Amino acid sequence: MGSSEGKSEGGEWPRPVVPRIGARLSYALHRVLAANALYRRLGAWVERRRPVYRWFTGAERVIKEQLYGCRMCGQCALPDTGYTCPMTCPKQLRNGPCGGVGADGRCEVHPELVCVWVTAIERAEEAGHGADLDLLQRPVDHREWGRSSWVNYWQGRDEGLGVAPGGDSPRSLVRRELGLSPR
Ligand code: SF4
Repeated sequence: MGSSEGKSEGGEWPRPVVPRIGARLSYALHRVLAANALYRRLGAWVERRRPVYRWFTGAERVIKEQLYGCRMCGQCALPDTGYTCPMTCPKQLRNGPCGGVGADGRCEVHPELVCVWVTAIERAEEAGHGADLDLLQRPVDHREWGRSSWVNYWQGRDEGLGVAPGGDSPRSLVRRELGLSPR
């Protein structure tokens, strides 16, 4: 992608999306799709065939866009964010909220909507995965936009996407912004 990385086809910046599917069901589905030798071979097979890869990527786009507002960054953070897409943050922040999130959890850019990081922590903690938000996500590799994150994940390219931080984590930032005690 060029200078319009992250914008919609209409040239607009994203809006926070509340997933249409619960976090617990998402974690369960992830277990079904968890990387293993079979999926790795399937991913490699799909990647070698351009028409199949295009079809597969298109199917992923439709499914994840409907469920999570996925924008096809190609390096999926969903398993670490309570299955809330950080790329629907208008600022596309992958490591917690900006300083503009309201004390009531509202987005600074779209005050009528809830900050994706507030949604993320609520969903992750409700499903018993709050500690996932203690990880920091490495920067997006913009060359991967539009590519299949499922194939990338099965091929092991997402390894190290989330790393333990030395300082503030997304979870600690959300809790601080909302005036909640640290965990
Ligand atoms: S692939 Fe990227 S844009 Fe799509 S849901 Fe995952 S993090 Fe969001």
